[in-house]
Amino acid sequence: MTKYKIFISILAGALCFFLSPFGIHMGFGIIQVSIPWSIIFPIIISLAFGWKYALVSAASGGALYPFYLWEYDGYANITNALVYTISYILISFINDKKVISFIHSYYVRLTLIFILISITIFGYYEFVFESMLSINPPFWTDTTHVKIEAGVLNGIIIKDSINYLVIILVSSTLLKLPALQKLMMLKPEENTKNNNQIFLFSLFFGFSIWFIFYLLVKALINDEEYVHKQFLSVAFYVIVLGNLIMSRIIMVLNEKNNSQFNTILENEHFLRTLINTIPDYVWLKDIHGVFLKCNKKVEQFYGATEKNIVGKTDYDFVSKELADIFKQNDLEALQSDVPLKKEEEIFNGKNQHLEVLESIKAPFVINDKVVGVLGIGRDITERKKYEDILRKAKSEAEESNRLKSEFINNLSHEIRTPMNGIVGFTHFLAKENISSKKRKEYAGIVLNSSHQLLHIIDDLLEISRLGTQQVKVQKNEVDLLVLLTELVSVFQLEAQKKNLTLMLDTEFLKNASPIIVDATKLNKILSNLIENAIKYTPQGHIEISSEIRESSTLTISVKDTGIGIKPAAREIIFNRFVQENKSSGYFGGLGLGLAIARENAILMNGNIRVDSEKGKGSTFTLEIPYIPVVMDIKDTDKDKTYERKIADVFTILIAEDEIVNFLYLKEILTLSYPHIKIIHAPNGKEAVDILQNNKNIDLVFMDLKMPVMDGLEATTIIKKHYPNVPVIAQTAYSGQEEKEMAMNSGCDDFITKPLNDEKIIHMVSKYIKTR
Ligand code: ADP
Repeated sequence: MTKYKIFISILAGALCFFLSPFGIHMGFGIIQVSIPWSIIFPIIISLAFGWKYALVSAASGGALYPFYLWEYDGYANITNALVYTISYILISFINDKKVISFIHSYYVRLTLIFILISITIFGYYEFVFESMLSINPPFWTDTTHVKIEAGVLNGIIIKDSINYLVIILVSSTLLKLPALQKLMMLKPEENTKNNNQIFLFSLFFGFSIWFIFYLLVKALINDEEYVHKQFLSVAFYVIVLGNLIMSRIIMVLNEKNNSQFNTILENEHFLRTLINTIPDYVWLKDIHGVFLKCNKKVEQFYGATEKNIVGKTDYDFVSKELADIFKQNDLEALQSDVPLKKEEEIFNGKNQHLEVLESIKAPFVINDKVVGVLGIGRDITERKKYEDILRKAKSEAEESNRLKSEFINNLSHEIRTPMNGIVGFTHFLAKENISSKKRKEYAGIVLNSSHQLLHIIDDLLEISRLGTQQVKVQKNEVDLLVLLTELVSVFQLEAQKKNLTLMLDTEFLKNASPIIVDATKLNKILSNLIENAIKYTPQGHIEISSEIRESSTLTISVKDTGIGIKPAAREIIFNRFVQENKSSGYFGGLGLGLAIARENAILMNGNIRVDSEKGKGSTFTLEIPYIPVVMDIKDTDKDKTYERKIADVFTILIAEDEIVNFLYLKEILTLSYPHIKIIHAPNGKEAVDILQNNKNIDLVFMDLKMPVMDGLEATTIIKKHYPNVPVIAQTAYSGQEEKEMAMNSGCDDFITKPLNDEKIIHMVSKYIKTR
């Protein structure tokens, strides 16, 4: 119970008590109002706040007015006040949904309460009233005990009950007024906005009618004494109350209309918000293509408000071609029974990009008649883009898969061919009675096949190393003339075998200063290009030339007069495993050479281009940054540390755990240097020991991977104690990292297996001055 409500309830009770004398004696002819109208205050409280406040209001005066009648009815008035209290509580139940929740209709509740009040009044007069009268107090003097007759009793009951009913109706009407709701601090009911005006108007109207009636009666009837007063009173009662009931009916109708109207507004608002929230284009056109409605997305697309779009057609906004397509699709949709799905390409003028729309168009039917086309369009540009990417990725994956299977087949062929040569001719070599000419020929084939095999293995290792993305560029000082001359001399023999002229244009190189470049990579790239040139040139010549462009780029070109490359293949041949002539199978190869060359060139911040004409020849051009060396005179005699003037007799220590490798190396050395002394160390530890005990060792060939102590550790120890003894690392790994590790441990040079006499002799002569 809130304080304010209690206060209002007490006030209502007190008002009822103090105003009741003015209403008690109102009697209008047959309609007697013998209960005061001031009980309207506690009844309003009962209806508005419920039975607890009804009790408060009753106790604070609302039910006590019968005591004005003490003189007549004595103790009976105590029970009379009780009847009022019970009536207020019953009335409070009209609005109490908890107590009579099973009755939903307001008017059925009202009827029920009306019946209950009638029964209460009947019970009171029939059983209580008279007995209470009989125990009247001593000071009660002249009134006698009167038995109320049945007819009179019924009259009283009907009269009182109807009075209650009317007062309840008036109270509940008053409670619909926003002004009263505000005063009583009730939650304002929706849709009661105009009720104040309706009520005041009806009150004014009722009084006016009565007043006109009063003037008429006054003018027409002469017997003022009696008829005049009676009729006017009844008329007042009927007209004013009638108007209040009318106003109540208007209020209820108004509320109903308002709530229906609000529902429509809510639905409209809901649909509007819905179509504007949808991220798709939504529009409605009539059968002639004129816009009837559209959502925000369409507004954005056309850059106009709905107001400006409605009434216009697509022809007012987009090109005629596009509008024609829209119109055609709309017509199809109009004739179709089911929604039509289409893809439409549109140019979004506002965002300046092409959008792909997936639109669904359906005939819009009202009363079985097609009145327009309803369209929903979704921007599927992004989806399309991803579909394209996926499609491309799929075809690339398929292509790469195909290339890989082709590569496996190629690989099998490429390995088996030299292996056949090696195995087959080694068998022949093992036979006893073959001439020395044949033996030489067979050995040549075995050697050649071995080189081919090695080449394939090298390529495979290189490509997988490049795939790890961990290959680093090692910059050295290189004399380009020397590098290219050496390369040409390596391939000269091969070119001669095919009757090809291999030429080096030395025009630029003669005066060129050394450059800083990764010599190993440069060698590899150019070897691949020259090898291809020889391979794909049946006759003619191959020319290698170089020049500086824009003083920052060094270009080295390998030009041949070979079979050439068709334009479509000129770029893809640089991809791994791709060969232009793969179907012919004539040239062999794995399709890796150019990929290795280009990937290495890119690592060196350069690239390879190709110019070619089918049937006439090709020119592959390597472009790398040109970094000339600034000459430092002191550096020229750098290598002198190792120059040792000794006799033909010198000692070499070979640290090698594989006995075959040791024997092979020993064979090469003794064949070239008959007086050489060779010491063998099967591991790094023994190599260190031997060096400690033998001060005459002139050169060490150090295998890097050995048991007990590996070559790197052994070299570190050796270099610490004997820095002047040259150590040459030899390893089966041809990677740059391996080389780097060897150099870091102190090795002077590095050779990769398989070894051959050329490499070995080059090293010996580099580090030992023989006579
Ligand atoms: P491979 O030579 O093992 O096939 P490459 O990657 O070195 O692999 O070459 C890829 C393809 O490029 C070759 O199969 C060949 O079709 C083409 N190609 C390369 N160099 C030349 C050239 N100088 N003349 C004509 N075609 C060439």
